[in-house]
Amino acid sequence: MILDIKTFPDEVLRKKNEPVAVVDDSVRKLLSDMVDTMRSAKGVGLAAPQVGVNKRVIVVDISAGEDSNSLMKIINPEILELSGEPDVNEEGCLSVPGEYEVVTRPSKAVVRYMREDGTETVVKSEGFLARALQHEIDHLNGVLFIDRLSVSKRETVKKRIRKRISIGDYVAGRG
Ligand SMILES: [Zn+2]
Repeated sequence: MILDIKTFPDEVLRKKNEPVAVVDDSVRKLLSDMVDTMRSAKGVGLAAPQVGVNKRVIVVDISAGEDSNSLMKIINPEILELSGEPDVNEEGCLSVPGEYEVVTRPSKAVVRYMREDGTETVVKSEGFLARALQHEIDHLNGVLFIDRLSVSKRETVKKRIRKRISIGDYVAGRG
C-alpha cells in the first residue's frame, strides 16, 4: 500500500521516534508499505516518520528498485562507527521535494540493526550506501539534510521552499 509522504515543515518529521519492541505483523506491514511508497516515489530510502509513523524503522534500496538484492528493511538501527574520508555529494529527500544540496558526510558507516525476522545484523557500508543509511537514521533523530547545511545556505533553501509553497509548486513525491 502506498502511503502519503509528509513534507518539511510537517512537525511529524521532528518528533521523537520510538524503538520497536517486538517485530510483529504490524511492523512487517509498515515495512512493506514503506517499500511500496519508496518505489512509487522512485526514492532510495524512506524513514517511518516520513509516512507519519514515529517508529525507528527505515527502508533503503540504493538501486532504486533495479536490483532486488539491494533492498534493506531496517529496524532499530544504531550507528556503531563512522569513519573514512569526508564524502562530499549532492543529497535530496522525498520530504523536501525538488531541493538538492551538497552535504558532507563520513564515507564509511557501520550500522547494527534488526531484520524483519527479528534477528540482529551488522552492515559495513561505504560510499552511497553509507550516505543513504546516515540520511535515513538522521530522520529517526528528527534531523533533515537541510539541517546539515550552513546557516546561510539553510535559510536560502527555506526561503525558496516558502516561495514554492506559496505558488503551489512544493508537492511530495515530485522530484
Ligand atoms: Zn530524507
